[in-house]
Amino acid sequence: MLRSEEKPFEEILGYLEDQDRVFILGCAGCAQSSQTGGMPEVLVMKERLEGAGKTVTGHSVIDFLCQKALVASRLQPLEGKVMGADSLLVLTCGVGVQSVAAMVKKPVYPGCNTVNLGGSRGEWQGSERCMECGDCLLYYTGGICPLTACSKSLRNGACGGASDGKCEVSPEKPCGWELIYARLKEIGRLDVLKKFVPPKTWNTMRPRPEILSTSLWALEQRD
Ligand code: SF4
Ligand code: SF4
Repeated sequence: MLRSEEKPFEEILGYLEDQDRVFILGCAGCAQSSQTGGMPEVLVMKERLEGAGKTVTGHSVIDFLCQKALVASRLQPLEGKVMGADSLLVLTCGVGVQSVAAMVKKPVYPGCNTVNLGGSRGEWQGSERCMECGDCLLYYTGGICPLTACSKSLRNGACGGASDGKCEVSPEKPCGWELIYARLKEIGRLDVLKKFVPPKTWNTMRPRPEILSTSLWALEQRD
């Protein structure tokens, strides 16, 4: 299970500063269990955004947002409401946000931080997609995680070492920052690259003491 926590509302409003119309998406998998992305949390977010002057074009909760084909098929009947929004706010883990961003040609923003439960979870097509860093950066990167897509986990652009679109560290994989650039260009948000992403506070990746004492932690550590 990927455990998520709601981002501060002010941070979410910061993402949405120039976005008046928003579609909200929740996840009936891990996020519902974390009480961050089930229908109750989606409805609360809707009320808060409307209270802040935003128009919510629609909302939905899908089972397992980490499943791209499921996301595409469940959003298809809602296409008008989704495409009528400036952006999507997704209340779930980092893998789910990336899955939605891969399926919808719109800016997709994280409403949650994914917190560390020790080890690695969130596999997608054989590769790790979320390091459970506790401070999700997907807003800055078009919904592609810079910590996992870039071999150096760079947060402010490419290192310059890529060759023919391949990473200089791991030539078998595409340069994550070239993917991020292409995605931002596709959704018309290259302007986001001008924003400086502050140095990462890596201690947000450490499992917090209050999580270490939960049954969820104990269950996840079982062999
Ligand atoms: S930035 Fe990456 S590692 Fe951090 S929560 Fe988001 S998807 Fe996960
Ligand atoms: S080549 Fe691209 S993916 Fe590889 S380390 Fe440099 S910026 Fe990151």
